[in-house]
Amino acid sequence: MTAALIYLALMAFLPLLYSTAKSVSREKLGDRIFLKTVAKDYLRTFPTLGLVALPLVLFPSAAKAYLIVLHLVFAWMLFGDLWHVHLFGARAGINTWYSMFVTTRGEIAEYIRNNMTPGQWLLIGFVYLAPVAAIALGLPPLALGPARWPLAAGCALLAVPLVRNCFKKGARHKPAYMLNPFVSVFYHYFLYTRRYRVLLKQIAAHAAPPFAGIVSKLPPGTPQTYVICIGESANRQHHGYAGYARDTNEFTRALGDVIGFTGVRSQYAQTLPSLEKTITFATDAAPELLYKKGSIVDYFKDAGFKTFWLSNQYALGEEGDTAITAMAGHADESKCFNFSAMKGFESASSGLDGTLIPELEKRLADPAEKKVIFLHMIGSHSAYVNRYPASFKHFTDDPPGRAHLAAAAKELLNTYDDSIRYTDWVIAEFVKRLRARGSTDAEYLLYFSDHGEDCFDTTDDKILGHGPIANEPMTSVPLQIWVSDRLKALRPDLVRRMAQPKAAYRLEDLIHLAIDLASLDNPDFRPEKSLFGGAV
Ligand SMILES: [Zn+2]
Repeated sequence: MTAALIYLALMAFLPLLYSTAKSVSREKLGDRIFLKTVAKDYLRTFPTLGLVALPLVLFPSAAKAYLIVLHLVFAWMLFGDLWHVHLFGARAGINTWYSMFVTTRGEIAEYIRNNMTPGQWLLIGFVYLAPVAAIALGLPPLALGPARWPLAAGCALLAVPLVRNCFKKGARHKPAYMLNPFVSVFYHYFLYTRRYRVLLKQIAAHAAPPFAGIVSKLPPGTPQTYVICIGESANRQHHGYAGYARDTNEFTRALGDVIGFTGVRSQYAQTLPSLEKTITFATDAAPELLYKKGSIVDYFKDAGFKTFWLSNQYALGEEGDTAITAMAGHADESKCFNFSAMKGFESASSGLDGTLIPELEKRLADPAEKKVIFLHMIGSHSAYVNRYPASFKHFTDDPPGRAHLAAAAKELLNTYDDSIRYTDWVIAEFVKRLRARGSTDAEYLLYFSDHGEDCFDTTDDKILGHGPIANEPMTSVPLQIWVSDRLKALRPDLVRRMAQPKAAYRLEDLIHLAIDLASLDNPDFRPEKSLFGGAV
């Protein structure tokens, strides 16, 4: 019995103990508040322990089977939690677990490749399975004797706050939190799949009501062309415009009128969870708006725009429908240009974002008076070296401040910066195509990345890439805007406000920025959620 209880206590308390020792928040919070928070976390774990130990005490004859199932189901989460503490000094939060469900197989494989050696995987496999053997062979039958009922009563008593919480009105998230890490992952998976099924059905059926009462602040009959470029895995810290020592933005800089913004952060470090919020009205606080309201594509359609969605991303469509492909499907024209990786033939000469330049040109020639063109780029997704043509190999010296890295790491970092620079060239070419029209259209181009990337930014020996866990390099994103002279002339207020961007901006509010730039308005638009301050 003692061994079984020690095992359960270890599972419950190990991530807590480790995070207490490694916590990064101690300095931020100060000793007193830190210790108070930690004490609360420990106290919260006891009800979980009581609940999990209860079946063990009630049915001692099934103890071995119970412990083995418990271990197989939950131990991987324990590892995940410990790994998270090891890397980031804090436990994996709900957002981290949530992100795991919405990631694609490709992203998981990439994360594993970047972060672990085969030896580490073997070791983890051994550590994962060894307790199963130990329980099966080594655990003697539980003999509780007369202690059984008092023990059961003790466990049940411990579990009371937890069970009570489950039935408390308006506190549905709490039981999951309190059970963390034992059950919260599955609880959230259940919520997620239920929500996702509804979502895909709703989007496919165009179930969300149309956006009502959209008005334009531009004079009636003004031709309008807007281009929204969604980048991939670009970390703002690697952008020259944001202070990086390498000139990775030489092409947009040379244009002279592309404005770069600092202070923009994504909340997630994966494409799907990030974009689900970015291109809809959904936020962390109101996730249901993902399917209860239309997306940015629907908004522009309801405002009378012809909509185009041109994608150079293969990962999203590859694994069946996602919210993003479903939303893109609402566009008047939705087309994907990158099939190389799907067939396993990815190489440096296929699937480049430059493919989108002539495609954009074609859509710009479309006679529709009002149009919006979404360009979903592959950006700096690994493998970085495949994201730019050989002629764009540029950085070969030591990366700034990283002269101490191993040669292979330096080379990888150089390819990452090359991919950022190539993206900058592509963006500059898009802008040039818009400029070349010399038209009287109100036009803007908005570029941002779905999330960042950690390419030797926080550790010297590994690329953390991007994934369920998110740190600063993975959430710092570039955002650049170009506005046509015609739009500037029509909206002097916008030009003034663009000079006063917010110091910190969450990507989940981006839909309001896109609407603000497009001079549109309706009750769904919240001017205070735009990137720019000042009166609207
Ligand atoms: Zn992404």
